[in-house]
This record gives sequence, structure tokens and C-alpha cells, in this order.
Amino acid sequence: MRVVATTSDLASLARAVVGDLAQVETIIPPAADPEAFEPRPSDLARLKGASVVVRVGLGYDHWLDKLLSMHGDAAINRGGAGYVDASIGIPLLEVKGSSVDPATRDGHAHGLANPHYWLDPANAEIITGGIAEAGIRVAPEAAAKIIANRDGFLARLKADLVEWEQLLAPHRAARLIAYHNTWPYFARRFRLNIVDVIEIKEGVAPSPARLAKLAATIREQKIRVIVHEPFEPEETSQLLARRTGAVVVKLAPSVGSVPAAADFRALFDYNVATLARALSAASN
Ligand SMILES: [Zn+2]
Repeated sequence: MRVVATTSDLASLARAVVGDLAQVETIIPPAADPEAFEPRPSDLARLKGASVVVRVGLGYDHWLDKLLSMHGDAAINRGGAGYVDASIGIPLLEVKGSSVDPATRDGHAHGLANPHYWLDPANAEIITGGIAEAGIRVAPEAAAKIIANRDGFLARLKADLVEWEQLLAPHRAARLIAYHNTWPYFARRFRLNIVDVIEIKEGVAPSPARLAKLAATIREQKIRVIVHEPFEPEETSQLLARRTGAVVVKLAPSVGSVPAAADFRALFDYNVATLARALSAASN
């Protein structure tokens, strides 16, 4: 069995489910901005022989449709036994009333709803459920192993979640500014309050008037932390930090965005510890 996931996060969850039953590959390189990603011909070759394909959906990886139709294998196309849209069943946030084709929106892919749902670790239960079902459809003889792998992973994750919630509990309702609108699922799980985002449109620097408004918000609401992502341009966040005395904290939006976030559980170990440390330092 070969599993191909569009993102490193889904690949990590797929590895937890299939274990040593399958090889798992990722299409988007971990150090790249996934929302600016464009596939190359070698990515089509990656689909060759894939028995399960896992995608974020919601327009985030809209380019996969073209790759899948070029690839042509009905089993991993929409409706096929090996096709997994991991967003199915997720309680979505920021749902748009009408569907917007994300491919027409400057490569920025917040089309149907906010797509960063893997950043609530509890959503791993739904995501791995979809992957496990596809794995069992494709390889029914491996069902017991797949179910045991998933159960073990979810049990460990549940224990982790208790620890993460404890680490962030002293910072309940902490107000934050974020560079990109990546964190609504993370913030809801850990009871944080993302007051505003710096970037309104992908790749467009905020205007001086907007910067002034953000600086005023940071001062008025005594916001101490600006959450930034490794591949986003840093000038604006640093400028706001200098103007207001807030600190810029780099969190990992995905597995592999920083070396410490090596897999799905490590992603939250890193983000929770980094944020808790910054918020504790800021409140002293
Ligand atoms: Zn985004």
C-alpha cells in the first residue's frame, strides 16, 4: 500500500494509522508556504501506484484535482475507494455562505471555510477515521492492524492533550495578534483570543493606516504576543513589535515548519511550549 498526502500534517497522521503497512509520501515540501504551492510534473509521478490519497480539501490544495484527473486512476479520484478528503466531518470555522473558487483568489486558499483545522489536535480523531476507513477499503486484510494503530495513536494524543491544555490553562483568553489567519482552531481548543490578523490578503503588505490601527489595538488591549509563521515575511510583525513592545513568537503551522515539529504530536509539543513560555514571560 502506498499513501500520498498533500501536506506533512496529513502524512504524519496517515503514518500513525498505517504504521509499517504502507509507505507515506507528502506532496508539499515542509519548508514551503503550502498556500502558495504549485505542483510540478514530478508530483504527478508521485501519484503513480498510490492506493490512498489524502487531502486537506476546502480549496487549500485545489491543485490536486488537476493532478488526479491527469493521473486518471478512478480509485484515488473523488468517490474512489482510496480518496480521502480529510475535511469531511470536521466542525468547520469561518464557513462562507457561498462557495468561492479558491483557484481564482491569488493562490490564497481560504475558500469555503478556514482550512487550518488540523491545528485542533482533537480533530485528529476525525481525520484519522477517514484515513483508516480508506486504508481498510483498499486493504481489508489489514483492518485489525489499522484499527489498533489508530486506537494507540489516539490514546497517546488524548493524554498529550491533557498536558497541553494544562500548560496553556494559565493563559486562558490571552489576547494575540497573528500574521496569517492560521489559528482559529488552535485558539478555540486552547481558549486563546486571536484579536486580529496582520495579513488581510495573502502576499499583500498591510497599509500604513492598517498598521497604525493594529498598533493601537495592541496598545489598547495590552497584547503582548504577535504570532508569526516561519515562511511569512517578517518586517511587518517586527515593526509592530518595535512600536508596541509586544514580542514576535514563531509557531509552526504544520509538521516540519520548524525542525522541532517533526510529527503531529511534536507540532503541538512545540507550539504549546513556545507559546506558554512567551505568554509567561510577557506577564512578568
Ligand atoms: Zn491560511
